[in-house]
Amino acid sequence: MQRIDFAYSTARQQHHSTAILDKLTELRPDSCFRILAISDRDLYIPILTHVYGEAQLNGTACIISLYRLTHSQPPYQESGITTQRSIKEALHELGHTLGLRHCTDPSCLMHYCRRISDVDHKTDRFCRYCQVWLRDALEKERLSFSSR
Ligand SMILES: [Zn+2]
Ligand SMILES: [Zn+2]
Repeated sequence: MQRIDFAYSTARQQHHSTAILDKLTELRPDSCFRILAISDRDLYIPILTHVYGEAQLNGTACIISLYRLTHSQPPYQESGITTQRSIKEALHELGHTLGLRHCTDPSCLMHYCRRISDVDHKTDRFCRYCQVWLRDALEKERLSFSSR
C-alpha cells in the first residue's frame, strides 16, 4: 500500500486524484497494461466538489474512491451495495483509460454520475454503442501489448 499524503489538500481536506494518477503511472509495472487504485479517501479535482474516481483518458492509470460510495447512503443498509457501486465505478474508469467517453444512456456504465443515486440507477453493463468501442480498443491494446 502506498501513502497518498502528497496529494492531500489541507484547504479542501480531500486528496487530489490527478496527482495520484501521475504517481500511479510511475508505479505501474511493465507487465501490467492498466493500473487501478482503490482508496478509502475522499477525492477531488479542482473544478468539482468530489469525484467517485478519475482516469487518464487513453492512459494507463485510474483510481476510485470508496468514500462516497460507502458514506452517503442512509436509505441503504443492503449488504453488497458498496461492492456493486465500486465495481461499476472501477469499470467506468477503466473504460476511460481505453478511450471511452461519457455516454448519454443513463443505464450504461459510461454514464456520468453526479449523485450516488445515478450510480445505483445504472447497470453493470456497457451499452451496445460503448461495447463496440470497447471491443475495438481492447483489440488494439492486445495487438500493441503482444508486440512489445
Ligand atoms: Zn467518467
Ligand atoms: Zn454507453
